[in-house]
Amino acid sequence: MSTHTYNFGAGPAKIPQSVLKRAQEELLNYDNTGMSVMELSHRSKPFGEILNRTKSNLTKLMNIPDNYEILFMQGGATTQFAAVFYNLIAAKQKELSKTKDNSPIVVDYIVTGAWSSKAADEAQRLAESVKGNPIVVNRVVDTKKAAGAYDRITPESTWSLTDPAKNHVAYVYYCDNETVHGVEFQSVPKVNPSVPLVTDVSSNFLSRPIDVNKYGLIYGGAQKNLGPAGVSLVIVRKDLIVDLSVGPLRPLMLDFDTLAKNESMYNTPPTFAIYMVGLMLEWLLEHGGLTEIAKKNEKKANKLYDALDSSKLFSAPVQKEARSKMNVVFKLPKELEAEFFKGAEERRMVQLKGHRSVGGARASIYNAMPEEEVDVLVAYLEQFEKEHPT
Ligand code: PLP
Repeated sequence: MSTHTYNFGAGPAKIPQSVLKRAQEELLNYDNTGMSVMELSHRSKPFGEILNRTKSNLTKLMNIPDNYEILFMQGGATTQFAAVFYNLIAAKQKELSKTKDNSPIVVDYIVTGAWSSKAADEAQRLAESVKGNPIVVNRVVDTKKAAGAYDRITPESTWSLTDPAKNHVAYVYYCDNETVHGVEFQSVPKVNPSVPLVTDVSSNFLSRPIDVNKYGLIYGGAQKNLGPAGVSLVIVRKDLIVDLSVGPLRPLMLDFDTLAKNESMYNTPPTFAIYMVGLMLEWLLEHGGLTEIAKKNEKKANKLYDALDSSKLFSAPVQKEARSKMNVVFKLPKELEAEFFKGAEERRMVQLKGHRSVGGARASIYNAMPEEEVDVLVAYLEQFEKEHPT
């Protein structure tokens, strides 16, 4: 019997075999240093090269302009909910410090699922601790409230974006791909270009080309498309990085300026996780970069959604215009779920259960998931339906 497991987990997620094999070798002896890559000092020459190579490959893949800083941070994507808030409020307060204007600073959140909602909650929680201008956390839209479920992206014309001509807006925030609900933006939301746009790309990082110039800040945790848990990547426009002495009191480790001035090595960085991200970037470059991976991702997702749409037993609840190419959420009759998941496990298809907050099923098909493995799932869906005619 094959021991191959089809890992449809939402994260930590599948990593290509070739990447794991290389890591396995270099875990024992990195580049003839006689040391494991895990044992390298972060101040050593070989690790410095790993960090620089990782940065330059990310720059190449995403076409990152010179006026952006790349930071490697810890604490997962959740930590960025706070870091983004503190640092961008600081940038706005710096701008306003010349004016002695004490009117509120607004932060706009476009809420389309669990993760953007959590980010807005964190901003709300921290807002009261900020001295100076009051902070207003504005949920521009909450699609669950607007439409009854996180199953779509409502038209921009219905959002209540704050007008930067009349108010101080520090940033507009959204989550590019909502991992739990399987909702993904198909284009960049149109916001006033004078306001920094922030996006959480944790679950669709490097899955398709992205125009960095449109953003003030792009961030994501690594553990879905980019390697193991333990490191988050932040790509931030340099003019939004301000000195720690300006703006809200914030922990050193959340301060972009401290991280930038120290090449992401103010303290010991997650060296092994950064190394793994580096290998994943090399793998992406070897496979034709973002344009190529986007084509593959589109093909895989279409296959799966087509199978779900043509089924009478299974269904995909997210509106077609907002469907995620990374996290395919689907449903089947509740009374058949246990049997479906059991049969999947028997075929070594694992982690297909939907997020505990939404139930149902979810297949995460990140960059590392080959098309053939999606085919295996599609075949199982078809067989299961034959065995359970409606
Ligand atoms: N944002 C998105 C889109 C996510 O999918 C997740 C985790 O799954 C997070 C944020 C939180 O990430 P972490 O667990 O690294 O804090």
